[in-house]
Amino acid sequence: MASVNESLVGAGEIDGAVMNGEVAYITIEDGKRLKAEVIDVKPGGTIYLQVFEDTSWVKVSDTVEFTGMPLTAKLGPGILGSVTDGLQNPLYELGKIEPFLERGLEVASLDEKVKWHFTPCVKKGDHVTGGSVMGFVPEKIFEHKIFVPFSMPGTYTVVHIADKGDYTVADEIATIRDPGGKTIPLKMAFEWPVKTPMPFHERSVPTKPMPTGIRILDSLFPIAFGGTACNPGPFGAGKTVLQHSLAKYSEADVVIVAACGERAGEAVEVFKDFPKLEDPRTGKSLMDRTYIVGNTSSMPVAAREASVYIATTVGEYYRKQGLNVLMLADSTSRWAQALRETSGRKEEIPGPEAFPMYISTLISAFYDRAGVEILPDGKSGSLSIIGTVSPAGGNFDEPVTQATLLSTGAFWGLSRALSDARKYPAIDRLDSNSSYPSLLSEEEVLSLKALLREGKSIASNIILMGEKGITDETYIQFQKSELVDAVFLQQNSFHEVDGVTDPDRLRMMFDMVWKIVESPVNIHGKDDIRSHFNFLRQAFIDWNTIRPDEEGFEKQEHTILNLIKQGIHAQENV
Ligand code: ADP
Ligand code: MG
Repeated sequence: MASVNESLVGAGEIDGAVMNGEVAYITIEDGKRLKAEVIDVKPGGTIYLQVFEDTSWVKVSDTVEFTGMPLTAKLGPGILGSVTDGLQNPLYELGKIEPFLERGLEVASLDEKVKWHFTPCVKKGDHVTGGSVMGFVPEKIFEHKIFVPFSMPGTYTVVHIADKGDYTVADEIATIRDPGGKTIPLKMAFEWPVKTPMPFHERSVPTKPMPTGIRILDSLFPIAFGGTACNPGPFGAGKTVLQHSLAKYSEADVVIVAACGERAGEAVEVFKDFPKLEDPRTGKSLMDRTYIVGNTSSMPVAAREASVYIATTVGEYYRKQGLNVLMLADSTSRWAQALRETSGRKEEIPGPEAFPMYISTLISAFYDRAGVEILPDGKSGSLSIIGTVSPAGGNFDEPVTQATLLSTGAFWGLSRALSDARKYPAIDRLDSNSSYPSLLSEEEVLSLKALLREGKSIASNIILMGEKGITDETYIQFQKSELVDAVFLQQNSFHEVDGVTDPDRLRMMFDMVWKIVESPVNIHGKDDIRSHFNFLRQAFIDWNTIRPDEEGFEKQEHTILNLIKQGIHAQENV
């Protein structure tokens, strides 16, 4: 080896060809092998390796062994419910969740002891191609299809297929023969290079809204199944809380959480929380439909990039299973920072803010892996990707936010002013946007946005001229806009009822809130108007915390309706 510069190691000239992206192992003094990836092959012969583990013990005299294989993810039954690091090493297996892994320790990505009940669906003599389904195993709450690896070109003949029975991912369950007569044994799991997108069988446009349980999203800034969203925000504005809510409540079949470079404390919270939480739709543990990739800020920086790609590849695999997958990446800025560090060490020509020139290409290629796929059986699967961005100082004009913005279909910008005012979720009501259809009608969304804009403009008039400077009528309009924000757009993520709103309840709430907006208020004097809206707001907020099947729900609904009536008839009662 020629040089060691933190996670970047330079290997001198070697015999034979080495390719970019190839995995290599460095054997250190105590015999342990550290996993690394070739990231640059210089014309002069120097090969740069990015080491995924702590390089404190690497010496120039250590030997490097090249595998000729790119970094891959192992795909097969057993991923759901697991927590791994950025290289797919199980974290629970290793008995530790938070601290980084012991150097050089590799554990099988998929547990090779677990037996899966396999039911074949092909027989001897059948013709298959890459992606053909050979059989099924039950995995948690799904039927998991066992595929002929997608990477296999051409047509094959089934020579042998295992009988219905229990097998592990290490057992051979089929043998197929290529046209040249060569036989190939197959197992229930196979590998896929993580940086290569799995080709879509047929791609379709994401148009069906994915209910998230979060009102401001489902109404104003929706995401579709197979869509993408960018969630930038300053530190402490609520990115992680939003991601946790999305992971718990979105109507996705499978949720993949890539905790990338954030504080270990927060990431561990997800790991600890999830197994205990119940999936509101299945009544089973939330973990049964979840895969968590943890690469926290205390783990080696170089593995951050790998963690994002492993998570994406697993997402594509479950999309091929015909499921709706949601992948959450928190935070893509930490991934970009890792790229910046490596690029700096490689002495590449830097782009804006020292990020590599190709950062926007990488970001757009990453989000492009999301989408809706029509599968050979005519059914569809989807992969939605939501990435947080944590720009320094909350400045959205930096390269990572800008590149993400251009690559995603929805933009949820978190505002410091809103989070300081504890108006959660602190998603900017006017500066955010989405190109996907809402759970509300187009007309309703337009009216809602118009009211919010009007409210904002009245608010600035009040600041300029005081409440006295505006008419009662204008003040009522302002109060209506504030009420919509307080009872409909704001939502307490930590309340078990208010924290999640299903589509039926969203409709019910919107109808009620719009009834308030459309009803005249015949009250005069700013104080009386304010007091009327205070009562309405409190009654609505109380209603939001009661489950529809709970006692008191209808009573509270009547309280609100009575307050609306009181507003209409106020003048007659004077
Ligand atoms: P970030 O990830 O952007 O740094 P967090 O998601 O950790 O910020 O949020 C910081 C704090 O803000 C949380 O610990 C919580 O107290 C509060 N918060 C954020 N979103 C909400 C919400 N929807 N409901 C209630 N509190 C929230
Ligand atoms: Mg966070």
